[in-house]
Amino acid sequence: MKTTLIRNGTVVLPGIISQQDLLIRGEKIAAVGDLSGLAADETVDATDLLVLPGGVDTHVHFNDVFMNTISVHDYYTGTVAAAFGGTTSVIDFSNQRPGVSLMSTIDDKREEAQGRALVDWGVHPVITQPTESTLAEIAQVVAAGAPTIKCYMTYRQEGLLIEEPDLRRILAALRDAGGMLLVHAEDNDMIETLVPHFLETGRTSAIHHAESKPPEVENKAIARCLRMVRDIGGRLFIVHMTTAEGVEMVGAARCAGLDVLAETCTHYLLFTEEMLRREDGIKWICSPPLRDQATQDRLWAGLRDGRLTQVTSDDAAYSWEATLYGRDRFDLCPNGMGGIEPRFPIMYSEGVAKGRLSLERFVELVSTNPARNFGLYPQKGTLLPGADADIVLFDPSVKWTMGQANSHSNNDWHAYEGIEITGQIRQVYSRGQLIIDGDECRAEKGRGRYLHRRLPS
Ligand SMILES: [Zn+2]
Repeated sequence: MKTTLIRNGTVVLPGIISQQDLLIRGEKIAAVGDLSGLAADETVDATDLLVLPGGVDTHVHFNDVFMNTISVHDYYTGTVAAAFGGTTSVIDFSNQRPGVSLMSTIDDKREEAQGRALVDWGVHPVITQPTESTLAEIAQVVAAGAPTIKCYMTYRQEGLLIEEPDLRRILAALRDAGGMLLVHAEDNDMIETLVPHFLETGRTSAIHHAESKPPEVENKAIARCLRMVRDIGGRLFIVHMTTAEGVEMVGAARCAGLDVLAETCTHYLLFTEEMLRREDGIKWICSPPLRDQATQDRLWAGLRDGRLTQVTSDDAAYSWEATLYGRDRFDLCPNGMGGIEPRFPIMYSEGVAKGRLSLERFVELVSTNPARNFGLYPQKGTLLPGADADIVLFDPSVKWTMGQANSHSNNDWHAYEGIEITGQIRQVYSRGQLIIDGDECRAEKGRGRYLHRRLPS
């Protein structure tokens, strides 16, 4: 088995940050420590570099058919962008097709990833047909390594809405099967009242997207979810949470012993709703919408104190042509933006370099916790011996400007254009293989493997 010795880097391990050597043997991390007496097939000098576990992004949308378009990232282009952005594991959402079994959500993604994925990938099935037969399949998808099922509490027109009685049945089935329910928490009744009212009164521009989905829309849905867990038990994960009250509610629920976790996403930590007032404001239409500065500050506080457990990208990259559907009517804009490549460097730059997060907390938020929460730890999310050798060599001193010119996404626009970044990814290893070397991608198509996940009990 090939050995690679990464010498003299600052290795970030749980609870310990110190200058060490790290040995890769085959696909695994074999040792961390003073390995100066050791000879390896290859030696890499990591002096002045951080040695970090590869990013784990558990919230991406590849080949996602949504709002009259499809996301531009497929399993090749999406994982190229992931790899350049230091992310070595992704978990993608797979919407159940009408009239089709829940197991087929995994098969669909196997087909999409086959011969294309550059990094390891997993699946969250999305229930769209809450029938008896779908419910009966929940234990099967959990056993097949996809124990985290998502439901949307809105998007009726998209065929995604799950009403509360069904949501409760799904939560109970997941509880019994050892799975976890992921919810997109926005109250559909409020949206179906507010959005038409905005349109009827001529309030149709990008900022009206945020105004028509105020924090109360999200808070009401979060409160309903938490009530469900109180009644039924089970494990709940709130995706892309954006409100201060949400952070409070989840914190209180956790203190009360409920098995509830919540994440937020890169864009909520960098942008505010002011972006929506710009002429090109449609670029930042996403749901839940961007919030104000005070709320953003509360999200950072939630990341520090643990009420928010991780940061994902919610990568939902739509072409400029499709984004323009929303030029005159916010409700026609495909909600979302690409972000899989920016996530890791932005969280370092905005978090660690700006003094909002410790280096250790940054690693927890972008790698360790997503791996733990979604059943990949300790195979992923850590540099401890025995883990997969998914490693990012990171230069914390370099300053650069992010944008389309240095993007590796195949989208034709960039939501993070002009953002000043401190810290740069030098090299990325996935299961021991050097896949990103500076500007060069060395990964062969299709090398990514299916991540068979099992949640900790
Ligand atoms: Zn999403």
